[in-house]
Amino acid sequence: MPVRATKRGTSRTRLERDCDVLVCGGSFAGLAVARELAGSGARVLMIDRYEIGERQTSACGIPTRWLEALELTGSLRQTFDELVVHTPHRTSRWPLPWSFSTFDYRELCAEMWTQASDQALEFETATVIGRSADTVFTDRGELRAPLIVDGLGWRRVLSNAAPIQPPHAPMSRGLEVHPQGRGEEMELWLDARYIRAGYAWSFPAGDELRVGVGSFWPEHHVKEPTVRVARDLGLPPDGYQGNWIPHQLRRAVEDGVFFTGDSAGHCLPLTAEGIRTAIYFGLACGRELRAVIEGRTTREQALARYGAFSDAHERKFRWLLAVQRMIGQITPSRAATAVTRAFESRRVSHWAFEHYLAIAPPTFVGAARRAASRPLVSSPA
Ligand SMILES: Cc1cc2nc3c(=O)[nH]c(=O)nc-3n(C[C@H](O)[C@H](O)[C@H](O)COP(=O)(O)OP(=O)(O)OC[C@H]3O[C@@H](n4cnc5c(N)ncnc54)[C@H](O)[C@@H]3O)c2cc1C
Repeated sequence: MPVRATKRGTSRTRLERDCDVLVCGGSFAGLAVARELAGSGARVLMIDRYEIGERQTSACGIPTRWLEALELTGSLRQTFDELVVHTPHRTSRWPLPWSFSTFDYRELCAEMWTQASDQALEFETATVIGRSADTVFTDRGELRAPLIVDGLGWRRVLSNAAPIQPPHAPMSRGLEVHPQGRGEEMELWLDARYIRAGYAWSFPAGDELRVGVGSFWPEHHVKEPTVRVARDLGLPPDGYQGNWIPHQLRRAVEDGVFFTGDSAGHCLPLTAEGIRTAIYFGLACGRELRAVIEGRTTREQALARYGAFSDAHERKFRWLLAVQRMIGQITPSRAATAVTRAFESRRVSHWAFEHYLAIAPPTFVGAARRAASRPLVSSPA
């Protein structure tokens, strides 16, 4: 488990600074933004309440093609060519057209930081409290920048609009444990005995397993079922990690601020896959910021383009949410088994998963690189 490295108490010094780009949040979304700004000459300051990679925020499963496109395979732990899906009545094996991999959070973040690093990039630990115009308030002082990114997760701390408050909000919730152990399969359980609307999972990652439960219905608690799934697998419930998971898009720009990742609701409904999309939208955001830094566009144009890019994905997010709601309704019935059985067909599974990957395709990474010389905000595939 990560060791707490963040400075506390008297070792926490004042932090007052002006910079060109202030990236709040040093996880997937924030690091993707910074990666796109490497070599731009911009004075970029990234802040997070923890050191980079200190606090794992997920089971760290991602399409392998994304790790390859990002040149982050050094952090890869295990790869899976199929998904094993259990219902109370059947175990289905879904053939995938592309593989999923698990990775090590700390190592991936360190690799992304290295990719983003140049002489003008700095990192500081600070807790963000709020914002007024171009000033961000932290527990260590005030920071100012004309370009501000919120990659702070679902709380959307830099928004001054009315906050959403779980459990009465468009959110799912997830909790997992990380016991030592080994496994060969990436497994899901669609089983109302564990969770009425949602699913349980076991993602092996080398010498540990990430075993958890996600509920589409935020009022439903996930701790007891998580412990029960681990127990049924003969594993101790070690190393808890959980969070709220937004399952609806929110505005990606607001009052001059760029929101990316969970802060903009960029996590995909149904699967709660939010790493790939946090990086995808982070790259798009970083690309727009770079165009401003290089004088190719204005801040207002960049905000409008990035907002339009995020909005262009609305239909696909809505569609996944509709499927999430449908699956949530039918989980206790035999219809759930009929659905999982249909995906045993290579044709059905490949069709669905190719469309699913295309929501945020790995080819976008290369497009982001090319955008260093040419701003490119394409419509989603
Ligand atoms: C149990 C669970 C398992 C999951 N498994 C997967 C998975 O296998 N694959 C997948 O694709 N998705 C998964 N997800 C979803 C995924 O974790 C998120 O969608 C993803 O982490 C979003 O990335 P982000 O960078 O937007 O936000 P986060 O990863 O949440 O990062 C936000 C960052 O902001 C920092 N921060 C927050 N508030 C403040 C503040 N006030 N001041 C300073 N810093 C702050 C945090 O320390 C953190 O570093 C899972 C979620 C859960 C809850």
